[in-house]
Amino acid sequence: MLYNLAMIKKLFDRIFKPKHTKSDATGSTKSESSKLEQSPSGRTILDTKLGTKKPARKYAEASKHESRKSSALTIPHKTHKIDRTLLSSGAHRTIEGLQKAGFEAYIVGGAVRDLLLNRIPKDFDVATDATPEEVNRVFRRSRIIGRRFRLVHVLFGDETIEVSTFRGSHLETDGDSKVADSGRIIRDNVFGSIVDDAVRRDFTANALYYDPSSQEVLDFHNGYADIEAGVLRMIGQPETRYAEDPVRMLRAVRLSAKLGLKIESGTQAPIAKMADLLQDVPPSRLFDEMLKLFLSGHAIESVSALREQHLHHGLLPMLDVVLEQPMGERFVMLALQNTDDRILSGKTANPSFLFAALLWHEMLAAWETYQAEGHHAIPALHMAMTEVIATQAEKLAIHNRYTATMKEIWGLQPRFEQRAGKRPFGLLTHPRYRAAYDFLLLRCESGELPMEIGEWWTAFANAEGDERAAMLQADTAPKKRRKRSRKKLSGAGSTSTSVGDSD
Ligand code: ATP
Ligand code: MG
Repeated sequence: MLYNLAMIKKLFDRIFKPKHTKSDATGSTKSESSKLEQSPSGRTILDTKLGTKKPARKYAEASKHESRKSSALTIPHKTHKIDRTLLSSGAHRTIEGLQKAGFEAYIVGGAVRDLLLNRIPKDFDVATDATPEEVNRVFRRSRIIGRRFRLVHVLFGDETIEVSTFRGSHLETDGDSKVADSGRIIRDNVFGSIVDDAVRRDFTANALYYDPSSQEVLDFHNGYADIEAGVLRMIGQPETRYAEDPVRMLRAVRLSAKLGLKIESGTQAPIAKMADLLQDVPPSRLFDEMLKLFLSGHAIESVSALREQHLHHGLLPMLDVVLEQPMGERFVMLALQNTDDRILSGKTANPSFLFAALLWHEMLAAWETYQAEGHHAIPALHMAMTEVIATQAEKLAIHNRYTATMKEIWGLQPRFEQRAGKRPFGLLTHPRYRAAYDFLLLRCESGELPMEIGEWWTAFANAEGDERAAMLQADTAPKKRRKRSRKKLSGAGSTSTSVGDSD
């Protein structure tokens, strides 16, 4: 009897279950793409035929989907020419997984924009009508994250795909959203349709939805035409959109600098008078945005644009002051140029190094003040480091993991001036030597220190064995204190050997 049941089930499966189809290089299945060519607009129904798990929902939504699409411009592959093989395998697999489970899923945001601009996207975001819980159920290796926006991270080896559920209007009463008196949106977890989702995005160029299965781009706000015209335009009323989220002002500057898009005049106009709203943005969010800006490969253009638009005030407290001093400006610009060069040549840039550079001249000023007040050099250095970082933290929450390295880079600087005895050998083996040495070179190039010091360290690091000993300068430092007097000092905070780290 059991045997017979199994036989019947097998036969049933063979007749009714769809045949397993093999993925091609693009990640879409052969039978999918051939059927899609016959009838692109009937995609959701075709998905159902391919054995999706939610047929009722998809049939019911098919007409809704059509009406959504009718409010969008559908740009076919022959026009936009996006090469879908440029999508990462994680992006393909996420879209495929969601669509096979009966959901809508699109590549959205920066990736579509970048592909249309012939740039390689740095990551791929997916938007879907599945709720975070539903996405989580489709992918075994995924987790729900976030509070302000609940998202799902789907993991494929090293790659993480961020999946967001279409968002609805925060003005609707149901759902979970919160708006501050200033109009700033604090929490935002109302789900909606793709049309609602598109209107919530910032710029028209960022509101394009690409379906790699049909190879269509859905364009609800003329983003395609704006990209073609090289324009960055805010969706909706710019004043309202900046009030909802002042970070959009920074995004306008960053994206226009990075992508070479011109900020449309209506989008540009309110920025000058609304810049102060950035003061209300939580420091951690500002930090994330500034990090993106500095590591975009276009930091110089971005900082210049921020200054032109008076957006830099209060972003990096004291940076305005630094930029007004010729030596400080030269140093900061060299550091930014250095970072841009590294990023554009495919190398990584260390955020701690960059922030250490941005704040160095402020650190120097505070260090001098403490010394003028009578503190010894090294305790004064530590006091200055703590003070400068604390002042920044009020506006820009630099993560602790970065501040620790910043302090090491700064703290090692006085040790480059010691070129006698055993000390230079110790410095070479310090784990932060390389970053601190690069920092020293910036100081030399900016004119703060004689070039000769940087050259000496380059030669010393490259020399071998006896050559190094021959390079050492005469030891003119005072003899070490005897043990007894050192002991007396040890309770009093930093000692002269505590700069940077132990070696
Ligand atoms: P990048 O290339 O720097 O990643 P991006 O546009 O992809 O640029 P993300 O921060 O990754 O920036 O955001 C992804 C998408 O989310 C954006 O393209 C945009 O559609 C939307 N978005 C991001 N931030 C905002 C915001 N502050 N307001 C409205 N929409 C936003
Ligand atoms: Mg992005």
